[in-house]
Amino acid sequence: MKGKSLVRAALQGCLAAAVAQAAVAADVKVTPLGGHEGELCPQDRALLFEDPDGTRVLYDVGRTVAGAEDPRLGRIDVILVSHMHGDHVGNAHNKAPGSGSCDKPDTSVSALPNSNTVNIALAKKAKIVTGSEMPPFFAGKLAAGGGDPKDSVLARFGGSVKIGGVAIATVPAFHSNGLDPDYIGGELGKSMKAAGIAGYVGEATGYVLTFSNGLVVYLSGDTGITAEQDLVVRGHYKPSLAVMNIGGGFTTGPTEAAYVINDLVKPKAVIASHVNEVGTREGKVLPGSKTEAFIKAVSVPVHVPLSGRTMTFDSAGKCAAGC
Ligand SMILES: [Zn+2]
Repeated sequence: MKGKSLVRAALQGCLAAAVAQAAVAADVKVTPLGGHEGELCPQDRALLFEDPDGTRVLYDVGRTVAGAEDPRLGRIDVILVSHMHGDHVGNAHNKAPGSGSCDKPDTSVSALPNSNTVNIALAKKAKIVTGSEMPPFFAGKLAAGGGDPKDSVLARFGGSVKIGGVAIATVPAFHSNGLDPDYIGGELGKSMKAAGIAGYVGEATGYVLTFSNGLVVYLSGDTGITAEQDLVVRGHYKPSLAVMNIGGGFTTGPTEAAYVINDLVKPKAVIASHVNEVGTREGKVLPGSKTEAFIKAVSVPVHVPLSGRTMTFDSAGKCAAGC
């Protein structure tokens, strides 16, 4: 090769490498922060999304994130809470990442009356973005904890808020959303508890996130089958990736969730979530599990969120690595 062509070849090589790196850099990273490294466990809820611009969004903290000190968290910019039940907002949490077993985690650390969500938001100076009537509750907790109540941000149905490179919208979820009186405390909390009454904080929600690379993700939250999954989520937002709760009992089970994915939302791929079972052993889906039933019933690729294993997605919802 002559000198000139050598230079040209080298330049072309550099260009190809730069293009490849830009493609990787434009992917969205999704890291499950579950109860047991490399597995899918019953309490697993938390997913950490990282936009290509670096914005880090933590969805449904739950109990498997071991408080604000959990080293897996790193910087957190935004926390999303689909609804106020203890397994989502985090009424208690793991002693340390992976404490206890997958089946029986040691979630003996109480986070009352604050919640795991509020404690992490205070420590990380993160914004809590919720819909419905939840923002005033979180604003009050942040203020009481020495934080800024303005860090509790409203995204009610129909609108969206943009934080960093991520646009956040809430969508309807058909569930319940009572606030446990343990978060209220005092005489009022005691009386409510005795009467079996929960606090009103509006409807439960799901989310649609639009990342800076164009990837649109639907987060179902706890929900049954809803008409909005067709008319609103697919009809308007057109997500290419969904995170679908499949545990049954409290939400859609594998059969109902598969219908939502195949016939209503129609994404290009789906991450199974909220399985309420030991879904995997040594990272492999257990035969006879709800997770397996869901994978068999769904017509697009199903990704299993193994704790600590980062998956990356391109703008079209295609898993580029880690699946
Ligand atoms: Zn739940």
